[in-house]
Amino acid sequence: MHCPFCSAQDTKVIDSRLVADGYQIRRRRECLQCHERFTTFEMAELVTPKIVKNNGNREPFNEDKLRAGFSRALEKRPVSEENIENAISRIIHTLQTSGEREVSSKLVGTLVMNELKKLDKVAYIRFASVYLSFDDIKQFSDEIDKLQREG
Ligand SMILES: [Zn+2]
Repeated sequence: MHCPFCSAQDTKVIDSRLVADGYQIRRRRECLQCHERFTTFEMAELVTPKIVKNNGNREPFNEDKLRAGFSRALEKRPVSEENIENAISRIIHTLQTSGEREVSSKLVGTLVMNELKKLDKVAYIRFASVYLSFDDIKQFSDEIDKLQREG
């Protein structure tokens, strides 16, 4: 790529490393003409599927909404920001690599539940009790019994 300082066409890569859990490449470059250095990031361009809500409406995937869901469930729970961000990244990665153009909000909810189950059981129960429909409650209370037996 062209040097952003002097627009020279030749730059060389002086360092290259994987970042963001291996999903991005960070390259340090140097201009062969003015010797200024700059950084570039390369990542796959993936499209996040649209979300189909229970009422049939479609809306663009919203990472902030997902994060807000995690925050509500995990309020005052001993889970680090880093673990939350990793869980969010895994969900987004799953959606982006699903190959689907649209996914149901129910699927997203299930992915959130799976992550919360690993992070914090209290948060998992909080989220599920809000998220699940009445029909699922019986099945869910069996699940809680199981979790409690596991300690
Ligand atoms: Zn230059």
